[in-house]
Amino acid sequence: MPLPYSPRFAYYDGKIQPSSSTSSFTTIDPATSQPLANIHTSTSHAVDAAISSASKAFPAWSSTPAIERARILQKAAAILRSRNDSLAKIETHDTGKPFSETSTVDIVTGADVLEYFANYVGGGGMNGETIQLRPDAWVYSTKNAVGVCAGIGAWNYPIQIALWKSAPCLAAGNTMVYKPSEFTPLHSTLLAEIYAEAGVPPGVFNVVQGGGEVGAYLTQHPSIAKVSFTGQVSTGQKVAASAAGGMKYVTMELGGKSACIILPDADIEQAVDGAMMANFFSTGQVCTNGTRVFIPSTLQSAFEKRLVEKMQYIRAGNVFDPATNFGPLVSKPHWEKVTQYIQHGINVDRAELLYGGASPPPWLASHPDQTYKNGYWVQPTIFTNCTDTMTIVREEIFGPVMAILPYTTVPEAISRANNTSMGLAAGVFTSNLNLAHKVIAQLEAGITWVNSWGESPAEMSVGGWKMSGVGVENGKRGLEAWTRNKSTLVEMGGVVGTVFAKL
Ligand code: NAD
Repeated sequence: MPLPYSPRFAYYDGKIQPSSSTSSFTTIDPATSQPLANIHTSTSHAVDAAISSASKAFPAWSSTPAIERARILQKAAAILRSRNDSLAKIETHDTGKPFSETSTVDIVTGADVLEYFANYVGGGGMNGETIQLRPDAWVYSTKNAVGVCAGIGAWNYPIQIALWKSAPCLAAGNTMVYKPSEFTPLHSTLLAEIYAEAGVPPGVFNVVQGGGEVGAYLTQHPSIAKVSFTGQVSTGQKVAASAAGGMKYVTMELGGKSACIILPDADIEQAVDGAMMANFFSTGQVCTNGTRVFIPSTLQSAFEKRLVEKMQYIRAGNVFDPATNFGPLVSKPHWEKVTQYIQHGINVDRAELLYGGASPPPWLASHPDQTYKNGYWVQPTIFTNCTDTMTIVREEIFGPVMAILPYTTVPEAISRANNTSMGLAAGVFTSNLNLAHKVIAQLEAGITWVNSWGESPAEMSVGGWKMSGVGVENGKRGLEAWTRNKSTLVEMGGVVGTVFAKL
């Protein structure tokens, strides 16, 4: 039986390259475990060819005026928006995320970032600075493209991650070889075709397919000048170490175990909404998830009562039903990992199970589409009265598993929130804005929210502290990561400070 989607290959020299592989694997629909498409793993020869294509395209693209690059990228953003629903459908099949989410978030936030960087470089974002040093001397600096860059994506926001990397990369005049996650590769060549349709020249955006081996070959390649990686901390360590050998620029967007702190004067309704967004959106597969929910002991019972009441608003099921807001996990290995963590929480950590658990969701047995029984579904799960030493509190689960941690004083909550090697995100819920800012200032995290959770607009620079990453994406600072600086001192009054003058 033919698969729903055509095979995916590498893409370079401005076209799909069917002869770029000798082996293939199948990508799976997580809602049903049905195969979606054959993906052809790029050979090392194909990766070399993609890098060579990007190297050939670099001189012309980097010297194209920024305003012209901007015009082309703006057109690509418009094409993305015009195909929102068809691209969202593909993302829903590939990731299992409900269409209600992919059609309103994934393509939209990717196109926003593309438009943001196009407008930014078109409006002078690549300008350097001029410093009048003395009347007869000045310094000027230029921002320059870095060269051929590698983009390596994770599976939770496939096309959004591809756009968050390629938008500033291309806007700054670089070229890219992008490798999607092997679990969610469907968007990759479609994005390459959209760029081409908008007028991006051949070789500026290229795609290779495959898993860690292909990623490792790409990132260690001597012709790669910068690596932008999104994924687990353990993989990021390997990628950064290999990039260090070639002294390559790196951006590392890694995992987290973020703290969501409900302060004593918080509005309970808002705190519950925030904690739910911080744990169950995208079935908990969001890097910035606030999985450690710190609650004052005095508010614990009111908070938990309302939380359990509101869990009924989580609606799993047909991922294309507009009412569905909770999908399956992305893959079988990830389903096994998350289920094991829930079992560990119950049996080894002995945390108190407030909601959900490791057994299959009860609705699955009566679901009209029997193929759903083969999907990677879990129950949204809440543990309470957790302690900081529990495994489910210390390690990133990357699934819909909330840990509630009661506390007594605000300084205690801050100190416990910071007691982790990771520092991606954090947030507070409170009616006291003075206290909010005081607490935020003490939290060791690169992305923070007050009375909200998860929004990450194009203008906001985001990146982790500690083991959660290096550098930022988005916002003005996000462009700097794709440029290198040249400073030039110009002297009109003779060589300053020379010691070689006649005495
Ligand atoms: P992963 O580390 O398993 O894989 C990420 C990518 O790296 C994949 O494309 C994979 O093929 C590739 N890869 C694997 N080994 C490699 C190697 N040795 N060299 C080069 N590439 C290699 O991560 P994942 O499971 O796909 O994604 C989930 C993780 O991503 C979570 O930890 C999550 O927190 C993190 N994440 C972080 C952000 C952020 O912005 N900070 C955003 C999304 C996801």
